[in-house]
Amino acid sequence: MLAACVAAADARAAEDPAALARAGTAALEQQRFGDALEAFTRAAALQRGDANHCFGAGVAAFMLGQNDVAQARFECALALKPDYLPAAVWLGDLHYRAGRLGDAISIYETVRQRSPAGRELDEQLATWRKEHELQSRFHAVRTRHFTALFEAAADEPLAREIVERLDAAYWRVGSTLGVYPSQPITVVLYTPEQFGDITKLADWSAAAYDGRIRMSIRGALEQRGELDRVLSHEFVHAVVTMVGGRTVPAWVNEGLATVLEPGGSTDAEAPLAQTGARPALSTLHGSFVGLSRHDAEIAYASAARAVRRLIEQRGAGAIVALLKDLARGASFASAFHQRLAMRYEDFSALVAND
Ligand SMILES: [Zn+2]
Repeated sequence: MLAACVAAADARAAEDPAALARAGTAALEQQRFGDALEAFTRAAALQRGDANHCFGAGVAAFMLGQNDVAQARFECALALKPDYLPAAVWLGDLHYRAGRLGDAISIYETVRQRSPAGRELDEQLATWRKEHELQSRFHAVRTRHFTALFEAAADEPLAREIVERLDAAYWRVGSTLGVYPSQPITVVLYTPEQFGDITKLADWSAAAYDGRIRMSIRGALEQRGELDRVLSHEFVHAVVTMVGGRTVPAWVNEGLATVLEPGGSTDAEAPLAQTGARPALSTLHGSFVGLSRHDAEIAYASAARAVRRLIEQRGAGAIVALLKDLARGASFASAFHQRLAMRYEDFSALVAND
């Protein structure tokens, strides 16, 4: 009887846009993005005029890496409410990460005029305009899977070498993971000054992936072996985001990128020999970019060791299956348990003494 009442209440809630939106908001807060997408999509279908339902669905889809759905949902929110600042911010960010700088800028400019609070976008707009202006001078070389953008014509041979090396990484990493992205991936080559200006990353970082691979080229020219390592590493980040969306814990993402580097992760794991300190995996879910050089070394080493253990015990395919579950909206702990056939806390305890 109780079950029947609960089912009836669920059915009523499933037809009530306000209840669905509340459930969607709670799911977003708890990072259950699959549940959030479902609730907001249903709410939007029942109540087509409400921009908040579209926006909520957009945020959830964005986090799951479903970029086309996210874009359509943010555009729906802005069509219903043209001064909807958060929807414009998320849509601009989505375009930016896809390399559509012109679209990102125009979304921001439009909402800047429509919303009184739009002034808070001025700083970001100025940065993007500067980057857009710089990039308008860039040349491109392309292979089927990669495009390299670079400023000085003299760098064309290096750009060609970079896409060739990326092609090699594509097939090498693909044969391990069984994943071969069909969308082309862009790599933008910068001088060290441009790189620091645009990425604002810590000085220990020479490359980054934020939808496109960005790298500083002077260092790359000096160390060819290092070039293969860096390109492979950033390419794996691209694959992880394409397969798993944006909720993949940093230790999984960085660990995979490091373990799959051409030379493996022996060097990266070396700092663990100097210290007994092992950060808990649960503290390594957020990005490593804000860490000091020393903490970053330990974080990368721990991530690499943990992922190497997973591959040794369960195979790389199990990690790819886990990533696909995350993109569908599964929680990390449950996807981990199912795909790696052990509880996340048990594995964490294991690597704490590794
Ligand atoms: Zn990385």
